[in-house]
Amino acid sequence: MASSLLDKVWNAHTVRTLPSGQTQLLIGLHLVHEVTSPQAFQALRELKLPVRMPERTFATLDHIIPTTAQQRPFADEVAEEMTVHLTRNAQQSGVPFFGLDSGRQGIVHVIGPELGLSQPGMTIACGDSHTATHGAVGAIAFGIGTSQVRDVLATQCLAMAKPKLRQVRVEGALPRGVYAKDVILAIIHTLGVNGGVGFAYEYAGSVIERMTMEERLTLCNMSIEGGARFGYVNPDQTTFDYLRGRPYAPQSAAFDRAVTWWKSMASDPDARYDDVKRLDGGAIQPMVTWGINPGQSLGVTERIPPAESVSEPERPTHREALAHMGFEAGQPIAGAKIDVVFIGSCTNSRLSDLRVAAQVARGRKVAKSVRAIVVPGSQRVAKDAEAEGLHEIFREAGFEWRNAGCSMCLGMNDDKLRGREMSASTSNRNFIGRQGSPTGRTLLMSPAMAAAAALAGAVTDVREMLR
Ligand code: SF4
Repeated sequence: MASSLLDKVWNAHTVRTLPSGQTQLLIGLHLVHEVTSPQAFQALRELKLPVRMPERTFATLDHIIPTTAQQRPFADEVAEEMTVHLTRNAQQSGVPFFGLDSGRQGIVHVIGPELGLSQPGMTIACGDSHTATHGAVGAIAFGIGTSQVRDVLATQCLAMAKPKLRQVRVEGALPRGVYAKDVILAIIHTLGVNGGVGFAYEYAGSVIERMTMEERLTLCNMSIEGGARFGYVNPDQTTFDYLRGRPYAPQSAAFDRAVTWWKSMASDPDARYDDVKRLDGGAIQPMVTWGINPGQSLGVTERIPPAESVSEPERPTHREALAHMGFEAGQPIAGAKIDVVFIGSCTNSRLSDLRVAAQVARGRKVAKSVRAIVVPGSQRVAKDAEAEGLHEIFREAGFEWRNAGCSMCLGMNDDKLRGREMSASTSNRNFIGRQGSPTGRTLLMSPAMAAAAALAGAVTDVREMLR
C-alpha cells in the first residue's frame, strides 16, 4: 500500500502500541541544550538511571549564553550555572558536547543539520518547540518538554499519538524579493495559527522542490507556529547533496547505501493525505507580522486589517494586538517605525540568510535611530560568514556582529528589547514579551526585509532596495 514519509518513519520507530493507544516511539536523535535539560538530568540521577543511548544524544549551548563577551565565568550567574551543569552532565553521561571551545557550538536547530546529525527517516526530539526545523531533511522532528527530555534520556523512547497528515502544496514561482520566510508566514496566515492542530505538515509543490536545504529549514522551523506538531519535506537530491561530507553523515560507500534507504522513506507518489491545501507561490509578497501571533501578518504593501475582517472568536485577540502594537486598523504596515533589528535565530541565522541581508546592507548605513545586531546561528556559520567578509559589510553598515546563540529570539541573555521598542526580527515568535520586554513589540520578517528596515528605520519594501 502507498505510504507517506510519516507512515514509514512512524512504523520504523514503533516499539509497541501502548494501552493508551499512543505509540511508544524510538527516538533516533536527541538534541539537548542548557535550559531544558538540568532538571531532566537531575531526575535521572535521583532515579539512579544512566542516559540510555548517549551515542544518540548531543548537547550544545545556545539559549542563555551571552553573544557578546564569552569569557568564563559569564557575568550572568544563571547562564554560568546552566553552562556548568550541562558541561558536567554531558561529561558524566558520555554525551558528546559542543561547547564554546568546540568550533561546533550553535543553536541546536542550526548545528543538527549542519553537522549531518539530522538525517532523513529519523525521529528527532529536543526540548525546544522549533525542533520541527529538522523536518527539512525528511525527518519526523518535534519539540518536547522537560519531563519528556527526562523520558528520552532514560529510555530513548517517547509516548506519542500519531497526528493526521496534511500536505501543503506551494506551486508556481516566488517573485523576486520573496523568500522561504515569506512562504511560511503566508502559509500560517492562510491556514491560521491553530490550523495545523492535530496535523503534521508535509510541504510539497514546485516552490518547495526548488528550495535549498537552508530555505527548507526556515520553512519547517515555523510549522509549530501554524499549530502543526511537526512539518517535513520529502528527501530528494537537494537533501543528499547537502548532507554529503558533513561530519556525522555516513561516509563513502555507507553514504550511498544510506541514500538508497533515505529515498525509500520519501512519500510514495500516490500516498494518501487527510487533507491537502494549496498556495500560489507567485501571489506571495514580502510578509510582515503586525500583531502578537505569527498568523497576524500581511504583505508589505497592505494595510492592517480591522477586527471585523476576522471571525468573531478571533476579534478579541485582534483588538488586543492592535492595542499592544499601537497600530490603527487601515494603517499601512510600510513606514512603521523600527527601533531594533535582530537578524538571527534558528529560523534565519544560516549563511544564506546572512548573505541575503548583507547584500541589502552593503554600502549602506543603518538608520541612526536603530540598534541592529546580527547573530550567526553557529560558530561554523560565523566562521564561513567571516571568510566571505560578511561581518565587515555588516559592521561598516552599522550592525553589531555577535557570537552564535539564540540571543534576542527569546531574550534570555542581555539581548533584549527595552520598554516599548519595536523590533524587526527574523525569529519565529512575536508573542507579547518574547524578546525580553513585557511592552516590547516584534515584527517578524525575512532577513532581507529586516536589513531593509534597519537601513530605513522603518518597515520598507525590500524589493525597492534589491540590486
Ligand atoms: S533561536 Fe529561539 S526558537 Fe530557536 S532554539 Fe533558540 S530560543 Fe528556540
